[in-house]
Amino acid sequence: MGKGFQIAALWILAVCGASFSLFAQSPAMKNTPSSAPFTVAIHGGAGNLQKLNLSPEQQAAYKAVLDSALQVGYSLLVKGDSAVDVVQQVIMVLENSPLFNAGKGAVFTHEGTNEMDAAIMDGKTLDAGAVAGVTTIKNPIAAARAVLGDNRFVMLSGRGAEAYAAEQHLEIVDPAYFYDEKRWHQMLKLRDSTVTELDHGSIEEAQDAAKYGTVGCVVLDQHGNLAAGTSTGGLANKQFGRIGDSPIIGAGTYANNKTCAISCTGKGEDFIRLTVAHDISAMMEYKGYSLQKAARKVIQEKLKTLKGRGGLVAVDHKGKVCFEFNTTGMFRGWVNESGVFETAIFVDAP
Ligand code: ASP
Repeated sequence: MGKGFQIAALWILAVCGASFSLFAQSPAMKNTPSSAPFTVAIHGGAGNLQKLNLSPEQQAAYKAVLDSALQVGYSLLVKGDSAVDVVQQVIMVLENSPLFNAGKGAVFTHEGTNEMDAAIMDGKTLDAGAVAGVTTIKNPIAAARAVLGDNRFVMLSGRGAEAYAAEQHLEIVDPAYFYDEKRWHQMLKLRDSTVTELDHGSIEEAQDAAKYGTVGCVVLDQHGNLAAGTSTGGLANKQFGRIGDSPIIGAGTYANNKTCAISCTGKGEDFIRLTVAHDISAMMEYKGYSLQKAARKVIQEKLKTLKGRGGLVAVDHKGKVCFEFNTTGMFRGWVNESGVFETAIFVDAP
């Protein structure tokens, strides 16, 4: 083969390669790739999500919000922001959407109120902050974050948490801000049924898609630090005063630089009984399990023995993401330093 031909062949390969990689990039991939690895992964709740119950338009609407939350995370991580900052900002995007059961879209209690829980944890320092049963804080995750930075306590509830958030100059809203027509009717339907909270009857099954929707975020930042956060309105038609797993450190939320960062979703009582998030971290630390192996054991075996349903998103200290759930779907998405954004809803993605 002549030298001229070889150069021409190399040139053609180079051009084709370049145009192929341009073609494969998603439209969101306009940011400059960064040097150190990072990852942000999110969930928007797990449940009985069937393609038949979610129109293509609804699926697209959920994915658009997941995508914009990931965009916020990506752009902060590229410029070197900390995992804890990113978790808060990403969750605030999801809290401000009426589509998810957190912040603006929080479900109603049996009494017709909205009572929200949130937690955030820093895997580097093991500092954590949580708020529970709050009714007037626009972004509960911002209040949890303020608590994380305060070394006097880890968890505040109800009126005390609200007074603290106001002192911290966080946005306080009238409870009417959380009113959502669809959520209201969802609660009325559940309330009028004879099905009780712990009875997994057909009405509960049919309404899973609306009942769940908790949001969570896990991050590995460019400095090698992990963080996790979760925010929720809890279970629709719940008893007022009921607190789920989301704000309980070690149950619904946990981060530790030695192992992983985790945010859970599902029927909180079972996640509390099994201290799901910490159990996974402990299996990694004490037994040397991979994140995937530990998560599978807890969600597909231990949780199932309690008939518990739900899932989680997690990332390990190397940036490996894990989505594990035993329901038919979980709203989810992730992006790393490569800049390729992915979102999915059903067990057999998309
Ligand atoms: N885990 C939340 C709770 O029990 C609910 C959810 O994830 O949807 O409060």
